Amino acid sequence: MESQQLHVIFVPFPTPGHMIPMIDTARLFAKHGVNVTIINTHANASTFQKSIDSDFNSGYSIKTQLIHFPSSQVGLPEGVENVKDGTNSEILGKIVQGILMLQDQIEILLQDLQPDCIITDMMYAWTVESAAKLNVPRIHFYSSSYFSNCASYFIMKYRPHDNLVSDTHKFTIPGLPHTIEMTPLQIPDWVREKNAATAYFEPMFKSEVRSYGTLYNSFHELESEYEKLSKTRMGIKSWSVGPVSAWANKDNERKVNRGQIEELGKEAEWLNWLNSKQNESVLYVSFGSLTRLPHEQLVEIAHGLENSGHSFIWVVRKIDDRDEGENSFLQDFEKRMKESKKGYIIWNWAPQLLILDHPSTGGIVTHCGWNSILESLSVGLPMITWPMFAEQFFNEKLLVDVLKIGVSVGSKVNKFWASIDEDGVVRREEIVKAVEILMGNGEESKEMRMRAKKLGNAAKRSIEEDGDSYNNLIQLIDELKSLKIARELVKS
Ligand code: UDP
Repeated sequence: MESQQLHVIFVPFPTPGHMIPMIDTARLFAKHGVNVTIINTHANASTFQKSIDSDFNSGYSIKTQLIHFPSSQVGLPEGVENVKDGTNSEILGKIVQGILMLQDQIEILLQDLQPDCIITDMMYAWTVESAAKLNVPRIHFYSSSYFSNCASYFIMKYRPHDNLVSDTHKFTIPGLPHTIEMTPLQIPDWVREKNAATAYFEPMFKSEVRSYGTLYNSFHELESEYEKLSKTRMGIKSWSVGPVSAWANKDNERKVNRGQIEELGKEAEWLNWLNSKQNESVLYVSFGSLTRLPHEQLVEIAHGLENSGHSFIWVVRKIDDRDEGENSFLQDFEKRMKESKKGYIIWNWAPQLLILDHPSTGGIVTHCGWNSILESLSVGLPMITWPMFAEQFFNEKLLVDVLKIGVSVGSKVNKFWASIDEDGVVRREEIVKAVEILMGNGEESKEMRMRAKKLGNAAKRSIEEDGDSYNNLIQLIDELKSLKIARELVKS
């Protein structure tokens, strides 16, 4: 007799924007009676193990199954196992190489553990075959918006950017319920024209169609038209179960422990600084877990923030090869901001959920990573949008043109940080302009704030008992249980 409890294996991709929401989702499954196993490497697991242990000790059936990251084979020091650890292109390349080598270990574990379902990151297209071998459903975990998935789908299908006079000319994305205009330079380079990355990303989209369905960290009221479009035109079964960060991390200890292991030594200092500020007066500036900016861009941001006259907390990720002059510019700036109490710099990693949740925080400058968007939205904050790479430019369009809760800073070129050049630099005047609109007292800011708060309330409702996301999660678990029973009947 097989165990009656549904066993689901989660396989996250080792970058915070993918891993954090998947771990939150896995914990939600466990809290709703599912036996959960998360497959991950040592250093990555250590960033969330505290939460797993605490859930386990509270009686939930959840555990991590460790696999070995091939550090020495790819020539990396121990513990460098996540895309966020890449401080230059060479290290980044080795990390990706190491991640690709994990496939065999994951395959063997899946066969050994014989789960009833696998929920695997969108980047692991090959897990469709693993699920077929096991005769269980594979659920595709898409770590961004319905909007971005629909936009990518229609651009890849109709290629409206081909044959334009130049890469800076606008085209309209076909097939969408809103008129969304972009330039070819703003879409991912591998979509613009085939390159080495196309061979990696195309199978990802194909694997979605061959999966049992897609899990979204989104909620019905946020992008219902795009949820519908994805189900009807793209024919993909899906469940929106977000925002998972607000659902899975309800207390402060969980919010601090999320996504990092280092103790937050300066916690009291940034908190005191925020506590000394008026409600909704501080702008939180973050470019997510991956982006590290070139010196020229940091200088423009520093001047832009200072010239805006508004208070800010800015998260700066360190980069290799900054020379002395460059380092001293930021150190002087940090000192000057400390003295005037106008600004606070956090180096490398910020306790983002706690900062966003603080009453003094009044807005965010975001690179439009989907998690940062949802985390800001969940607490009703409007945004300055500054997309950098991948699908972030699509997310910007959702915020600015559809939801109308974002002010665009005017980012023009879709490039991963390691290859940003002068073309991609946003000037200080643009930054000042956007900050004045968002943090000022004008009508536009008030209306954006109001809409963001309304969406924040909708987000909260969706994860309460009987809310849309809550019901979707329960329904998905029930469906997976029925599939398990049906499979066992066939076997017996
Ligand atoms: N994050 C954080 N502190 C940081 C940077 C990032 O807690 O200093 C978290 C953030 O809250 C979010 C994730 O890392 O959950 C980043 O995901 P997102 O989709 O926003 O962007 P990405 O890092 O993938 O570009």
